[in-house]
Amino acid sequence: MKLENMFKKTRISSRTQGHGFGRTMRPEVPEGLLRKCNKCGAAIIAEDVKAGYYICPKCGGYFRVHAYRRIQMVIDEGTFEEWNEDLTGGNPVNYKGYPEKLEAVREKTKLHEAVVTGKGRINGIETVIAVCDGRFLMASMGWAVGEKITRAVERATEERLPVIIYACSGGARMQEGITSLMQMAKTSAALKRHSDAGLLYISVLTEPTTGGVTASFAMLGDVILAEPGALIGFAGPRVIEQTIRQKLPKGFQRAEFLVEHGFVDAIVRREDQRKTLTQILSLHGYEAEKAAAGNGETGREDYRQDPADSEESVKQAAAEEGPSAFPHHQSLTAWDRVQISRKIDRPSGSDYIRELFTDFIEFHGDRNYGDDQAVIGGLARFHGTPVTVIAQEKGTSTKENIKRNFGMPMPEGYRKALRLMKQAEKFKRPVICFVDTPGAFCGIEAEERGQGEAIAKNLMELAGLTVPVLSIVIGEGGSGGALALAAGDEVWMLENSVYSILSPEGFASILWKDSSRAHEAAEVMKLTAADLYQRKIIEQIISEPEGFCQDNLKEVTDRLEPQIRCFLQTYTQLSEEELLDRRYQRFRKF
Ligand SMILES: [Zn+2]
Repeated sequence: MKLENMFKKTRISSRTQGHGFGRTMRPEVPEGLLRKCNKCGAAIIAEDVKAGYYICPKCGGYFRVHAYRRIQMVIDEGTFEEWNEDLTGGNPVNYKGYPEKLEAVREKTKLHEAVVTGKGRINGIETVIAVCDGRFLMASMGWAVGEKITRAVERATEERLPVIIYACSGGARMQEGITSLMQMAKTSAALKRHSDAGLLYISVLTEPTTGGVTASFAMLGDVILAEPGALIGFAGPRVIEQTIRQKLPKGFQRAEFLVEHGFVDAIVRREDQRKTLTQILSLHGYEAEKAAAGNGETGREDYRQDPADSEESVKQAAAEEGPSAFPHHQSLTAWDRVQISRKIDRPSGSDYIRELFTDFIEFHGDRNYGDDQAVIGGLARFHGTPVTVIAQEKGTSTKENIKRNFGMPMPEGYRKALRLMKQAEKFKRPVICFVDTPGAFCGIEAEERGQGEAIAKNLMELAGLTVPVLSIVIGEGGSGGALALAAGDEVWMLENSVYSILSPEGFASILWKDSSRAHEAAEVMKLTAADLYQRKIIEQIISEPEGFCQDNLKEVTDRLEPQIRCFLQTYTQLSEEELLDRRYQRFRKF
């Protein structure tokens, strides 16, 4: 794998460039020099590249970035304090020529080792940061790299700071033998302690992240981001090709492939990374100037102290709503409501996310198999307070319906939801789910990957999740596929949404061997919001305007908003024990 940066491979057309880059952060590219892009071959001005995040202005290709430049791009100017700068390792297996090799690389790069660690601020938010530098023996992880990362993570745990690691590595440092292998376990163990302390770790994967680094700290982020097109994998592509004697498909092991396969939360362009990192840190309760106080604890405070939201006034507002507040819909039959719940222009999960929340950032993948498009999830703010939002998403056009499998999740959709719920628990955020599915997908792949197991696990984990969980059925609440996101503290339904054991068609087909009697089945099944409210299956009904669609969605979200506030106010004040006991009794009664 070639790790030389672009400039070394291109001809320099005027005076020779120096290697004075290092602690001084002096740019190594003399101004105004003309270069040739090693990706598209275009002539580009070095200064433009430097000012433009080391992205080719012609082809958009990403050039590799040295550690100090990376820190310059991300960290507030003048706030970076480097730790263990001079730390170097030995020659644990007395590998011949290794000390000389290291000496030569040090001379050339002006780096002591392949990672730079320390503390700095991003838009005022204090964070620990470690950045690998590919110029140093492919940023392979020997003792010194592992030790510097471990020390940085340990200190972050002590000082209750978040950690950001920019990974880039060829993997283990072969010259250090088994000592190098041990660094994988050492760094992972330090991150485990950091995580158990309730602290945030963001991993940013850059070209290339491979081998023992991928198989340790790089893949352990609470949030894993990647640069577009970055090569990320355990085994290098050439090793795989030699092993399986096949040519690998285009895009294999690229960042986009990793998102599709569920291992990366989001791809973030270089120019957006500072902003995105700030947003993620802030959504986890880390604030400018007083970072040490934050790990999401502030969320509970906010509900209690919001004077505009006295519980009384919210409850009164909520009480004005009820099953009788919408006379224009009273003549509808259950089957009519089934039809309305399925209308293609009915607002979908993402519409509610947009209307009710701010700062939404979507996180992809189940960290296991794939990213299910039928489930959207991520972080957002509700009246300033961070929440985890999860929505089953059908889409609102035929094209989108297909992309999102008509809102029928695969096992990986439920596993993504569970991953985000567990994350919400770690950071003490409430969870708000929007339910809208005809049911979990029935198919060969779904069975192969354990559809039943995925739903079952959600039910069990939800029973013990120590943060409030609210679910709102906005369209179809189909069977176990809906319940897997609706086994929390309260379930609300939109007036014309439905929630049932099975579709009316399926019900008629199984019990009467005649799916055309679906309209009759709908009446028998007691699947309307009013029916379920009466049976205490749900706690609230949210009325809908006539001809409910995107255009009048605000009428519904205006009703939802004070009620969600009231829910959060009530449930965030409960102790974990009270919360879980209430939830247990909620289902125990049936
Ligand atoms: Zn180019």
